Amino acid sequence: MKKEVKLSFWDRLYLPAVIVGMGITIKHFFKNLFTRPKNRYTVEFPERKKDVPEWYRGLHRLNTYEDGSVKCVACYCCATACPADAIFIEAEEIEDLDEEYPREKRPKQFIIDLHRCIFCGFCQEACPKDAIVLTNEYEITQLSREQGLITMEELVKTPKKKMD
Ligand code: SF4
Ligand code: SF4
Repeated sequence: MKKEVKLSFWDRLYLPAVIVGMGITIKHFFKNLFTRPKNRYTVEFPERKKDVPEWYRGLHRLNTYEDGSVKCVACYCCATACPADAIFIEAEEIEDLDEEYPREKRPKQFIIDLHRCIFCGFCQEACPKDAIVLTNEYEITQLSREQGLITMEELVKTPKKKMD
């Protein structure tokens, strides 16, 4: 059974907690205002940008072979592993088997919905062909839901990790 918590008079007034919270906010405001920029916790983005660590999981990239064709073989492993149902793939058969890069299928459509994606990296882990990777590209804001649907044509153009 749930125990009822008894609030004191001051707890019920809420004002002391609000004043303490405001005090912390004001303290950080002046601390940030008068400390050197290198000691600040925030960065004035987009005027100033910072390098992000290698482990950072940002925008996806579809890797390609030297001839420009995508490494993806439309096996659906990434879409199956995705907990957010953010990957849509439409596969197509390859009629003429390429001797250099033999594969039977490729994606006709490959779309990632960035508004669903939680950047967990499971798609990258599940891929048997090293075809999909998460880069450390973080400038991925969009102005509409449609812009958040990243197509195969865009995914192959995502820059590789800056430290590659
Ligand atoms: S990073 Fe995670 S949520 Fe995003 S597409 Fe890959 S598996 Fe899905
Ligand atoms: S990106 Fe990798 S896991 Fe996803 S369909 Fe293509 S080959 Fe399979």
